[in-house]
Amino acid sequence: MEQNTIFGHPKGLFVLFFTELWERFSFYGMRAILVLYLTAETLGDNPGLGWSNESALQLYGWYGMLVYMMSIPGGLLADRWLGQKKSVLVGGVLIIIGQFILAVDSLVTFYAGLALIISGVGALKPNISTMVGGLYKKGDIKRDAGFTIFYIGINIGAFSAPLLVGYFGEVVDWHLGFSLAGFGMILGQIVYVFGQKHLTGIGDSHKSTPESAALMKQPLTKIEKDRTIVLLLSFLIMIVFWGAYEQAGGFMNLYAKQTVDRVVFGFEIPASFLQSLHAFYVIILGAPMAAFWLWWKKKGKESSAIFKMAIGTIVMGFGFMALMGAAYEVSVLALEKASLYWLLLSYLLHVVGELSSSPVALSFITKLAPAKYASFMMGAYFAITGLGNKVAGWIGEAAESAGALEVFTGVTMFCLAFGLLLLVFVKRLKALTHGAEDDIS
Ligand code: GLN
Repeated sequence: MEQNTIFGHPKGLFVLFFTELWERFSFYGMRAILVLYLTAETLGDNPGLGWSNESALQLYGWYGMLVYMMSIPGGLLADRWLGQKKSVLVGGVLIIIGQFILAVDSLVTFYAGLALIISGVGALKPNISTMVGGLYKKGDIKRDAGFTIFYIGINIGAFSAPLLVGYFGEVVDWHLGFSLAGFGMILGQIVYVFGQKHLTGIGDSHKSTPESAALMKQPLTKIEKDRTIVLLLSFLIMIVFWGAYEQAGGFMNLYAKQTVDRVVFGFEIPASFLQSLHAFYVIILGAPMAAFWLWWKKKGKESSAIFKMAIGTIVMGFGFMALMGAAYEVSVLALEKASLYWLLLSYLLHVVGELSSSPVALSFITKLAPAKYASFMMGAYFAITGLGNKVAGWIGEAAESAGALEVFTGVTMFCLAFGLLLLVFVKRLKALTHGAEDDIS
């Protein structure tokens, strides 16, 4: 195992950090301009495809779901054949080809590019996440913090892409935006290839040694089955979490545009800028939150992953309570627009919830998943987050007819009740993990 460290973490973490940063740059860059490109007029300086809003949002929905669903075959690819390390490389190359094909202006290349990106993200995203877990020995107390650092990398990509790809794509040329994401991905792959020496022994194929090939054939033990059950339950928590969180790109985006007063010092902040806010908060709060949870753990307080996910869901509920404040101003106080502070506070709470749940979930999966299904379980988790996106879409649609205050109240109540209920069961669920989270060091 790699012993050289930076900030007390294996150097390999930073190789994976930069690779994933650029993968997310490409993903979020694409996400930022896809709908805009589809709906842009076919004539003009920067022609798009001239689709209706409805068709564009439909394709966007499919893209958002498939890109995460493909994590399941991506995980299987690693477990059964290539191992995680090579799967990440294959995924990266597919994304690069996809982004550059998109730079060509035709409908065939457009669909081919999207299909390549979807497959590439499927092969890369779950497997690079599993590799982060592989950098830490069983019981290493630093594992959760390692995932938070990795998560900060994700969000540097997510923060900068809408601004850079968004600007070059929307203002200059859509295809330039797509290729910019492709160049980013090339940088990520260069870091990955040259950083291989820091990843020795991490993410190799199960076929690489007779011992690991034999392990693939063994049936699951009782302990492994119990752990798998807890993992599946934790996935349920994350559907609720992402179902609430992912409102940000859809319904909340429109709400911000139409109902929130975004004028600050005489300047109106474009609604799309608020799309970078979550990632900005993660970058700022990632380290303090990781330090907080470590301090909490060292004080001997309850700090199992399920507990943190329950807290994350409750904090998410408070985030929606802040939005109730905004909707109250408009529908009860009859103000023309809701003040921006509610939204800023709400997104802040969403991110505090996210930092208690999302990197923790990744880390938890690498502790609990049976070795032979390690990548598959990670893939299944991302597929679940795709489902969370879909749930968010449904809630958004409901908000169209039910009204914002009602929907915000509903989501608040549901998150609070669900989180509190989970707290009651934390001890029992923890017992099913059979000490997988205990520290050895
Ligand atoms: N925002 C995080 C990322 O892009 C988490 C997304 C998710 O788990 N669906 O990786």
